[in-house]
Order: sequence, then structure tokens, then C-alpha cells
Amino acid sequence: MKLIEANIMARGLMNKYGLHNWGLRWMAETAFIGQTNYAEKVIYLSSPWTVLNPARRMKQIVLHEIAHALTGPTAKHGRLWINKCKELGAGHQEFITTKGTGWNSPYDI
Ligand SMILES: [Zn+2]
Repeated sequence: MKLIEANIMARGLMNKYGLHNWGLRWMAETAFIGQTNYAEKVIYLSSPWTVLNPARRMKQIVLHEIAHALTGPTAKHGRLWINKCKELGAGHQEFITTKGTGWNSPYDI
């Protein structure tokens, strides 16, 4: 999808779920489509991957990251985070990584 459309979609969802004080930034990173940086309070989206993915998929990625932001760094991909994904309608089983699983990193998708 187009970056401008992704930006509007992501910012809208972040505001909807109370992340008004969180930033949204683009990254050139290709190892991950999205990252949640708790220290910076920023959700990063990979611009190279965003343009290659449909809006439906990018919405899932954004909701995945919002669930991370709302549950905090210790939740990782555990029960608390999974429950938040379900609440938000994020497909918690729908992960896209280009390298390994990234499963245990607090900053992975
Ligand atoms: Zn994740």
C-alpha cells in the first residue's frame, strides 16, 4: 500500500486505542515490518515492506504493534499480548518476518 495511506491508517488506529502520545515513524529496516520501541514510545513501520503489502496485511501489522505498545515490553508474545490482539482484532498468528522468527525480541513485529 502507499505510505501516505499507511500513515493515515496507522495514526488513526493508534489514536483510536489511546496511543496519542506515541509516535509513528518510518524505517528503512527490512528485517522487520514493524517494531515497537517502548523507550522512545514510537511504532516503526518498514517503508520497503509497507509498499509491498496490501492494506489488509498492514492493518494487522499495525494492530500487532499497538497490542505491544498497550501491553508493555514484558508481555512479549505471551498470553496478555495475545488477549490484547484478540480484543483489537489483530491476527496474532499472522506474523511476517524475513529473518528467523524474531519471536523473543521485544522489538520484533
Ligand atoms: Zn510482536
